[in-house]
Amino acid sequence: MTDCLFCKIVSGDVPAEIVRESPGTVAFRDINPQAPTHVLVVPRDHHPNVAELVASDAELLAELVRVAHEVAAAEGVAESGYRLVFNTGAQAGQTVFHVHAHVLGGRGLNWPPG
Ligand code: C5P
Repeated sequence: MTDCLFCKIVSGDVPAEIVRESPGTVAFRDINPQAPTHVLVVPRDHHPNVAELVASDAELLAELVRVAHEVAAAEGVAESGYRLVFNTGAQAGQTVFHVHAHVLGGRGLNWPPG
């Protein structure tokens, strides 16, 4: 999709600090980190949200979750604990409508979230 920010990061047209890649996904550091580890994992293909992704390509969603766990392990937060977040819809705080998993860790995370 030509005017999608995360499509442009995937294509290299917008710079990002990429930390991991897989055949179907790219993982990069969030530009405004909310925790010591804050990485976004996105599919290379454009899907607006996780509900649409699981309906159209459940294997790609599984790959994305696997990569998110690999990122957490590589960042050293898999043992202590990390949070995987898919904001889905504007009321939930989704601002970029290209599905992305937030991988958050490296500090205590409150529950319930804000
Ligand atoms: O879940 P939500 O859609 O709000 O998340 C979008 C995320 O994309 C934000 O955490 C924001 O900091 C991040 N972002 C980024 N690089 C950009 C623009 C936004 O990492 N160039």
